[in-house]
Amino acid sequence: MSATKRRSIRVPRTLHRKPGLRHAPLYGSLAGQGSTNFRLMRLHPGILDQAITCSLEELPLNNAPPYKALSYAWDNTLGSSNSGSSPSTMWIRCNNVPIPVSPNLYAALQRLRSKDRVVNIWVDAVCINQNDPDERGHQVGIMRRIYQQAEEVAIWLGSKRDDDDLAEDFMLSLGLTSLDWTDNEETNRVFWLEFLRRSDCKRQYIFGGFCVLWLLSLGIPASVTPHISSPFGQSSCILNGIQAIMDQAWWQRSWVLQETVVAAKATCYYATLSCPWNMITKAAASYMNGQLSTNIDSAYGYVSLLAQFARQVRDIEIIRQDWRNPSKLVSLLPLLRQFRIRNATDPRDKVYALIGMVQYWGGQHKIAPDYNLDVTNVYWQVSITVIKNMQSLEVLCGTPNATSDGDPRLTHPGHPSWVIDWSYRPSATENIRLETQGFYDASSHLPPGQVRLHGRLLLEVEGVELDRIHWVCDEVVNSHHGRDGGARRWREVVKSWEELVAEVLGDDNRPYAGGGTVGNAFWRTICGNIEYTHAGISLAGDDVSSAYAKWRSVDFHHRRTTSIVGDHLQEPVFNAKHGMTEKEVESEKRNAFHYAVRFACSDRKFFITDKGYIGTGPRGVSSGDRVSVVSGSRVPLILRPSTQEVGCSHRVVETLIKRPEDRVFYQAGEEAKQMMRQGDSVCNELHRGLYNLIGDAYVHGAMDGVGLPADRSFLAPVFLR
Ligand SMILES: [Zn+2]
Repeated sequence: MSATKRRSIRVPRTLHRKPGLRHAPLYGSLAGQGSTNFRLMRLHPGILDQAITCSLEELPLNNAPPYKALSYAWDNTLGSSNSGSSPSTMWIRCNNVPIPVSPNLYAALQRLRSKDRVVNIWVDAVCINQNDPDERGHQVGIMRRIYQQAEEVAIWLGSKRDDDDLAEDFMLSLGLTSLDWTDNEETNRVFWLEFLRRSDCKRQYIFGGFCVLWLLSLGIPASVTPHISSPFGQSSCILNGIQAIMDQAWWQRSWVLQETVVAAKATCYYATLSCPWNMITKAAASYMNGQLSTNIDSAYGYVSLLAQFARQVRDIEIIRQDWRNPSKLVSLLPLLRQFRIRNATDPRDKVYALIGMVQYWGGQHKIAPDYNLDVTNVYWQVSITVIKNMQSLEVLCGTPNATSDGDPRLTHPGHPSWVIDWSYRPSATENIRLETQGFYDASSHLPPGQVRLHGRLLLEVEGVELDRIHWVCDEVVNSHHGRDGGARRWREVVKSWEELVAEVLGDDNRPYAGGGTVGNAFWRTICGNIEYTHAGISLAGDDVSSAYAKWRSVDFHHRRTTSIVGDHLQEPVFNAKHGMTEKEVESEKRNAFHYAVRFACSDRKFFITDKGYIGTGPRGVSSGDRVSVVSGSRVPLILRPSTQEVGCSHRVVETLIKRPEDRVFYQAGEEAKQMMRQGDSVCNELHRGLYNLIGDAYVHGAMDGVGLPADRSFLAPVFLR
């Protein structure tokens, strides 16, 4: 995690500038490419405030003694009011050389050292010579193995803050310097008894938070845990405690994923408290299992918080499970999407932090960390690699950049619009929306087209223009603020969409341009035509229309009969012990519809085209944009005509996806020669009529290709820049 910050901090550079240090070579050159040598820190024993000392030793990875690997945030002040200011520097001595480290790293080392023995630990900021880009690239390349091979990955969340209650008096009474939940239930029970005994606590009851997470991890539902279901007193302190655990910068960092995903064993440390990672994941799973059901959560304050907690943990744990499951192979694009909302100080690490986890590239092209490339080149390489490997344009889906999200500032000027800017953070639920892309196949009725690259800027695809966007409506703002998850505002926005549809297309029973009725097209559009049930995700069945009717009729302002809490719409029903009542079944369907709308529409705008197609698209969509169905993309794309011209002068044109009739099969060995002869060509054209990619769209009636001409003559080249 750490690696993010660490990498831009350039610790050793400071070092080299210090007079007198020139003759204390902390970093010799590691054995180079091809070897798997790394440096291990030997953290010397010490207690309390004694200075931290350590030594570094170069070792072959496959012959290393047992060691821990640290997963942490270099700067843990992010998100607090003083973010932006660089943290003050602390010093440790390594091979007798003073090294500056961040306060958060210092605190982690203090916590993890032993009072009487040397601890072997791998800490990226110290063990990698940050000043040597080649070593950095090489070590990042073997980092997955470093974490995989560690006997424990120590997840350092952060140190004690002012309002934290860590039950220190209890700890001292036991003669301990830390309280560690373990896989041994007996210890945990002792902590639980203490928890029940205590009547008083500080505002952020971290100890109480750990105790409640343990209880959840045993499968005990939150709704029957009285300690968190009262709106007063200890409950809110415990919730504050869990919130404090979740608010640490660690959760936002890109590097922590790989570090946690590949770990054989991981432990979470918060100041003097710790627990196994699997206690956290069991607690999250236990909460999620009950999520769709009615009545399991009522109008209690913990719902929104635990929903956020469960999502945050699930994101990591899903990949961790897949990574271990031999029948599932982790591939690059879902990883990039799932973790795009995280932070990486070095934007290249939005990619490099993940590639170590890729088990399936889908083709022969791979990406290796190279810190000599700039960020635009790294992202460009991602798009090209995925297009070539997957032989599809799936990578074009999602929010490409800030502009497509309605922000006129481009994060990386000069970046082609079709190259996804992974440093841009889209809506938190976009990855869930993109997981449903497999249910659509907008270009299925088109003949397969070709995809070619002119130089580095122009992407030539083939497609059909469906229509021009005429009316655009406000987006639904996805809000984690407030206990209702913004649900009231949601309803108002969707209502304004309904009104526009009624005004432009007429009432629900009128025929719709893409088939069926207007009313049917509308509810299917707002849920993306997707249904979430206990059995999984599927295309929405006809009966979902009744869930929509119920969802629509909920009185959002009448708090007595209906509470809207967190992600759920719920009515208080108190007799759930004996099977589900009709009301609960109904409520569950409505919950599911609400989920679907939330994933399909968060931060998306609603539009109607000239011919009367309706759909949803990115926030940046505007009147005059075109909806195109492009061969190789499962969903329609929104394109904006550009007045710019691009002249290709002796530009090499590389074919990324060939037309089937152009795919010629040669005997082994012949292929390379033939490719040279007829593969890439040169372009000298002046290209006009270019488009900028704005993003992907849901357009009802165009998601399965029905009604589109299937004649090659309709396929026209489209140039994206
Ligand atoms: Zn050209």
